[in-house]
Amino acid sequence: MSKDQSQDSAAEFFPSRKSLKAFRDAAADCKACDLWQRGTQTVFGEGPRRAEVFFVGEQPGNEEDLTGHPFVGPAGRLLNDALVDAGIDRAQTYVTNVVKHFKWEPRGKRRIHKKPNSSEITACRPWLEAEIALIKPKVIVCLGATAARALLGPRFLVSKQRGQFIESTLAPYIMATVHPSSILRAPDEETRHAEKRRFIDDLKKVARVISKN
Ligand code: SF4
Repeated sequence: MSKDQSQDSAAEFFPSRKSLKAFRDAAADCKACDLWQRGTQTVFGEGPRRAEVFFVGEQPGNEEDLTGHPFVGPAGRLLNDALVDAGIDRAQTYVTNVVKHFKWEPRGKRRIHKKPNSSEITACRPWLEAEIALIKPKVIVCLGATAARALLGPRFLVSKQRGQFIESTLAPYIMATVHPSSILRAPDEETRHAEKRRFIDDLKKVARVISKN
């Protein structure tokens, strides 16, 4: 297919059947931006169809790209630990990313994460919108600035507004906090520990919301 305007949106690849499985299968063949050529595979969201909590990160990382599952690398393991401490069952949450392919650049033998640009985020956004529409979560948690800006607007600042529930038409409750990978990048053990505690405190607010009927 030649590159034309109609290929710049993942919506062009939408299935006729509106089920999570149909969307996941269709996303596997998405070529709406150039990232499909760089990543190993599409990493679609995972979790129960009726998950109350919906986590959105930026994009899959190295391990996610290789396994095809979201949040299974170091950041995912930190998220799992923090969820346990906050009293949230990960098996009852849906986890996904704004962009579904791993964007990276080579450094020696390693593949280093590269931030997706605005056209890649725009192209991929329909998959995220479809996931939200199908799951209808009670709480959406944006992990990091890319997810927060994609869902809460370009002026949203995680550094100032993290942990606050924001009014939105996307879900009854939506908040942003840091991406767990930023905690892993903390310069020393003490900072890492403090940042993890703040992250758990944000997740405890989510736990309180889902415990309400
Ligand atoms: S990153 Fe998103 S829009 Fe781009 S090819 Fe992958 S699934 Fe499609």
